[in-house]
Amino acid sequence: MDINQQVLRIDVTGLPLEWVDYKGAASLYAVDQVIYDLGADIYTLFGGINSITGKRSQLTVNSIIATNGQSKHFQQKLNRYTPPLNNQTLFKRDAHLCLYCGHHFVRKDLTRDHIKPLSRGGLDTWQNVVTACKRCNHHKGGKTPEEAGIELLAIPFVPNYAEYIYLKGRNILADQMDFLMGYISDASPIHRRMHLQKKA
Ligand SMILES: [Zn+2]
Repeated sequence: MDINQQVLRIDVTGLPLEWVDYKGAASLYAVDQVIYDLGADIYTLFGGINSITGKRSQLTVNSIIATNGQSKHFQQKLNRYTPPLNNQTLFKRDAHLCLYCGHHFVRKDLTRDHIKPLSRGGLDTWQNVVTACKRCNHHKGGKTPEEAGIELLAIPFVPNYAEYIYLKGRNILADQMDFLMGYISDASPIHRRMHLQKKA
């Protein structure tokens, strides 16, 4: 397995928290923060040689690790959590489609469009931004979609915490995906976008 594979860190109650790389995972194991692990063994890390036993230490890392240390208070805060807005997760939210012309683009050809333009008091928030190709963004300019005579193909939404972790993930493994899906409601628009993503 690829050493760059990310590990899904969850809290002891099973709430997804974040992605960690192999160094992050190794240090959580090293300080005994890992309470249990789930999913597949994804790689084995080798450490130094023990001077007494003469054996090399090794650590098998799982795809999902549960760690200590989050309080109930933290979980309550998560319910009201608004993830930071950035283009990587925004474009993935919108399945790398321009939400005006419906075409699929690579990341460098996509832009963040403000539905109500910033120049007109629109906000830089998840509900007011969509992925747009350069051409549509340019065409729309400082206008609203109605004024520009174009229509939004999907409604922008604020991802919840689990959705945000999904959006931030790279090469998510099947067991990690199953786990995250347990926290994403069937009604979430993410499902439809995922379907579009696969087709594209
Ligand atoms: Zn477009």
